[in-house]
Amino acid sequence: MSKDKLHFLSKTADILTREIDTSELARELKTLLNDFAGLNNLNIFVYDTVTNTMRDCVNSWSIVEDDSEVYKFFENIKGYDFVINSKAYKLPAVISDITLKITSLCMPIVKNEKDFGIIELNFEENTSVNMEFLFLMKIFASQVSLKLQNIVLNEQSKINVEFHDSMKNIAKIIETQYELNYIVPIIGEMLDRFITDHLIYVFLKQDGDFSLVWPKACKDERIYEVLNQLTPETDYILTNNDKIGAFPLISEDGEITGCIVARSTLDVLSKRDISYLEQLTRQSAITINRANSYSKILQYATIDALTNLNNRRQFELRLGQEIATTKRQNNPLCAMMIDIDFFKKVNDTYGHASGDAVLRGVASIIKSALRESDIPSRYGGEEFAVLLPYTHIEEAQIVGERLRKAVESSPIPINDENSDIKSISVTISMGLAEFNNKETGEELFERADKALYEAKESGRNRVCLNKSI
Ligand code: GH3
Ligand code: MG
Ligand code: MG
Repeated sequence: MSKDKLHFLSKTADILTREIDTSELARELKTLLNDFAGLNNLNIFVYDTVTNTMRDCVNSWSIVEDDSEVYKFFENIKGYDFVINSKAYKLPAVISDITLKITSLCMPIVKNEKDFGIIELNFEENTSVNMEFLFLMKIFASQVSLKLQNIVLNEQSKINVEFHDSMKNIAKIIETQYELNYIVPIIGEMLDRFITDHLIYVFLKQDGDFSLVWPKACKDERIYEVLNQLTPETDYILTNNDKIGAFPLISEDGEITGCIVARSTLDVLSKRDISYLEQLTRQSAITINRANSYSKILQYATIDALTNLNNRRQFELRLGQEIATTKRQNNPLCAMMIDIDFFKKVNDTYGHASGDAVLRGVASIIKSALRESDIPSRYGGEEFAVLLPYTHIEEAQIVGERLRKAVESSPIPINDENSDIKSISVTISMGLAEFNNKETGEELFERADKALYEAKESGRNRVCLNKSI
């Protein structure tokens, strides 16, 4: 064999021993073949038996359109060594002196003697090659085949690991959280991140009807049609040529409590996606069922389990009482709405367990900065509402500023052995309003909320007042 051919093979070996993804692999091989034989373009396609489609390995595994020539080449090549200019060939037993003019050369990617993809090479016009070159290409193709098998296997195990992480995450939320408004978006986001080629929707049954809880909108009417076909015996329904899949959430007593829907405009749901979605739906159903039964128990509770402050229900009750007293005695009363700044970032950066620790920390600072007579509550999520009886807005502003500074200057300790960080610093924004004797408690807090909005708009970490009467 001539020196340049040996050189080519050795360079190929160099590339294949590196840890690279398919697009890098294609790029490197293309440069190499270009130097060696005037190559114009190189493509690699792998056949996905789960969806029965060709995947374009150079373009992030996208599905190759049905009418592409690639499918024809793949059909033609079975039992042959090459498809040259659209015609299939087998290599002869001996190397003869024939030369061929070629523009396109396809070679099979083989695994266990079965074709599982093709490498397509396009040459500059009028490139001629001899038989020796074709033998060389056969060696080249089988080396690349080995590498591709390796990469595909790796991709699959990576997906499996991610899947188990998602399952673990869902299970973890069960331990600490019971509020559906909080749990469902997390489940939605997690599924969405995991099932990348499809949009995910989460529906819960409320008063007998399915209502969308994640994301904010769903305009596809077909999805609602599928939802109405679900029965408690349904494992899942596939529709629209398998591009929409509906997986019902079933309660412990066998009723449909909601549904997870995966929808794509392009890809069909693969067997693997379906199996993952089934498992994730089952895990989500357990989480949601637990939250549902817990919320029934909590109907009679007054304290928020995470922060030990009054819960929302208790807050509404106390608000009613305080408004009545204030009116009767003509005392001043102030409303304070507090919201942690950029709290989503805390969750995203440090995880939800650390987020919970921050919520507890902020709650405890709030409690210690207030007077005995003040009534702090967890209003929802990362928002707190405080009633300040016997307080005019000027005093409330002083209390608020003190509280704001206390949060700003008190890093919250994180006792998580899985985490490198020891503490997290956050800030809060706050809105204040004083009761005007004419409004309802709800209206009073609406004004405090308006002021909070202003505090956010004008840069956060500040206290704003609503003085409109
Ligand atoms: P802004 O400064 O505008 O208030 O930004 P933000 O990120 O704080 O506001 P946003 O409303 O976008 O995010 C609030 C986040 O709080 C989203 C939600 O996941 C999180 N959250 C709500 N309840 C809980 C909880 O109980 N625990 C944890 N860890 N996070 C929660
Ligand atoms: Mg908020
Ligand atoms: Mg916030």
